[in-house]
Amino acid sequence: MEDMEAKKRIEFLSKELEKYNYQYYVLNNPTVSDFTYDEMMRELRGLEDEFPSLKLSTSPTQRVGGMASSTFEKVSHEVQMMSLQDVFSFEEVSDFVTRCKEMFENSAFVIEPKIDGLSVSLEYENGIFVRGSTRGDGFTGEDVTGNLKTIRSVPLQLDEAPEFLEVRGEVYMPKKQFLALAEQQELNGETPFKNPRNAASGSLRQKDSSITAKRNLDILVFNVQQVDGITWTSHYQSLQALSRYGFKTVQESSLVYTLEEIISEIEKIGNSRNDFSYDIDGVVIKVDDFSQREEMGATTKVPKWAVAYKFPPEEKETELLDIEVSVGRTGAITPIALFRPIRLAGTDVSRASLHNQDFITEKEICIGDTIVVRKAGEIIPEVVRSVAHKADFILYKLPEKCPVCGTKAVRDEEESALRCPNPDCPAQLMKSMIHFASKDAMNIEGLGPQNLIALKEAGLVHSVADLYTLKKESLVELERFADKSADNLIKAIALSKQNSLERLIFGLGIRNIGSRAAKLLCQRFPSIDLIMNATEEEISEIEGFGEVMAHSIVSAFHETHMKTLIERLKEENVAMDYVGASITDTRFAGMTFVLTGTLPTMKRSEAKSLIERFGGKVSGSVSKKTTFVVAGEEAGSKLDKANSLGITILSENDLIEKTK
Ligand code: NAD
Repeated sequence: MEDMEAKKRIEFLSKELEKYNYQYYVLNNPTVSDFTYDEMMRELRGLEDEFPSLKLSTSPTQRVGGMASSTFEKVSHEVQMMSLQDVFSFEEVSDFVTRCKEMFENSAFVIEPKIDGLSVSLEYENGIFVRGSTRGDGFTGEDVTGNLKTIRSVPLQLDEAPEFLEVRGEVYMPKKQFLALAEQQELNGETPFKNPRNAASGSLRQKDSSITAKRNLDILVFNVQQVDGITWTSHYQSLQALSRYGFKTVQESSLVYTLEEIISEIEKIGNSRNDFSYDIDGVVIKVDDFSQREEMGATTKVPKWAVAYKFPPEEKETELLDIEVSVGRTGAITPIALFRPIRLAGTDVSRASLHNQDFITEKEICIGDTIVVRKAGEIIPEVVRSVAHKADFILYKLPEKCPVCGTKAVRDEEESALRCPNPDCPAQLMKSMIHFASKDAMNIEGLGPQNLIALKEAGLVHSVADLYTLKKESLVELERFADKSADNLIKAIALSKQNSLERLIFGLGIRNIGSRAAKLLCQRFPSIDLIMNATEEEISEIEGFGEVMAHSIVSAFHETHMKTLIERLKEENVAMDYVGASITDTRFAGMTFVLTGTLPTMKRSEAKSLIERFGGKVSGSVSKKTTFVVAGEEAGSKLDKANSLGITILSENDLIEKTK
């Protein structure tokens, strides 16, 4: 390759890899597979070796990971948290072993599965967990102590411990949890995490620890970074001590001596990788003896005493039998590949999303093709490419009309997706109802998809508002319901009327509005009327909201069918106020408020929500125990009584001031 050409290629690869790093580490949303990323990194490394003068000073080959975000306090790592040198063949493993043996004939190696999660440091003073942080760029990470405390396997206190101990481990999301989360996110109309590693990173780097707590993260500790008051001479010995202290360490690690043993361990772990409850993307081979490690040293980025052997992704060819077109809750029309079943990463798969027309066009996918399928992050099947067309192939084109209601589909340029714009499309309605009744939304027990389908087929419900007019007598006529189950469902539906507003907002299935966004919105605007009257500008000022979300809210509540739905739900007495499930600011704790008269802008229910949001109580009558009376126009006897008892009277404005 000529210098000019190499320069161009180096610049291109560096720029692309930097972009991928940002998407991966900062946004937790990779746009290329790890395999593609690793190939590009390898090519760049090769070119930099061949043309050292062309290497950019900011080259991605010199950097570890991402950067610490401003959301968390920064933590300087006293001992650098390094990455690992990747190798992709047994030949390269052999080169590594030879290098080690040349320096130390008696080198022993510890072989461990490489957990695909995110690296953290845990610090303990006299056995007490005092700080936990992410790796960041290896020198500076983020303080995520509170979030790490929500992980049950992070010991808060050690059974027996040196004066100071810093360990390193991998936080991960078990495969099962990842699949459940991805399914839930899809149902919620959110963009699901691409793989368990991004899910773990996105979950650990949450501002609100209660979200991290719900994500069921786990940790495996694999290294001692620093220790005072005790000396270990080898890695294997230190791991055993960590396990005794109460840390969860990798059980499958083994101590071996020869290349043959190393290869055999790699193969053993590789063959059983699908049986692990967590995703692994390779095997780490580490020199065991600490003094040998010290002598071998490190580059700026990786230690020289270890390598990570990365598994190639398992890919298989199969036949594309058909393309199914599904209509989602928000009207998104998604093509799904239906292919001859194949076994991949331990499970049988026969379907994969083809995302949108651009994806199909770019890969020239046609029904009848021989396609290559693999599992992204070893979990979600994806079509990698088409390898052969049949003789009479026709390039696949998505239908121009909604396959369910026949309405002309519109192209959503932002997401390159096709959408059915008909809010009454039966496919959307059914999925919206399933979402409305689901656990994180209105949480109507006993109203799963099958029952909803039965109700819809019987003509009993056409919209979620119809749920609230259902009568037991009509239910028992259906095959699916007996006396008791009909009774239970009617009760569960009635109970859902009392939900705090954020459940309803989430249940309405507004695009880009997940359960967390719904809660943030309700905390700022604690009634449906306040939300419906809020401007895009006001909404986008909520921390955690952006313009896109604010626009989604305002345009959703501008739609006639949404306004009609809200009116109907109000008529059925579905609660429209935010009560607030978790109170973090308890400035009104222990105080009792009484509301009287007509307040200038707030309804009673809104003022009540506001007081309760800060931990206060609202009572109907004035007594010596009353802390404040909030009085509006035409306040009557309650105001008189308050005056006679010498209780402080507040105006609506005073109340608002107190909550600022
Ligand atoms: P890495 O994932 O290749 O390896 C280093 C990490 O392995 C360590 O930080 C540690 O956290 C972890 N690890 C897990 N088990 C371990 C064990 N038993 N012992 C020691 N360490 C263990 O390197 P990285 O720097 O974290 O990430 C780079 C990789 O991330 C790339 O090779 C690529 O696969 C992926 N990536 C992908 C994209 C993308 O766009 N798809 C972008 C950036 C990075």
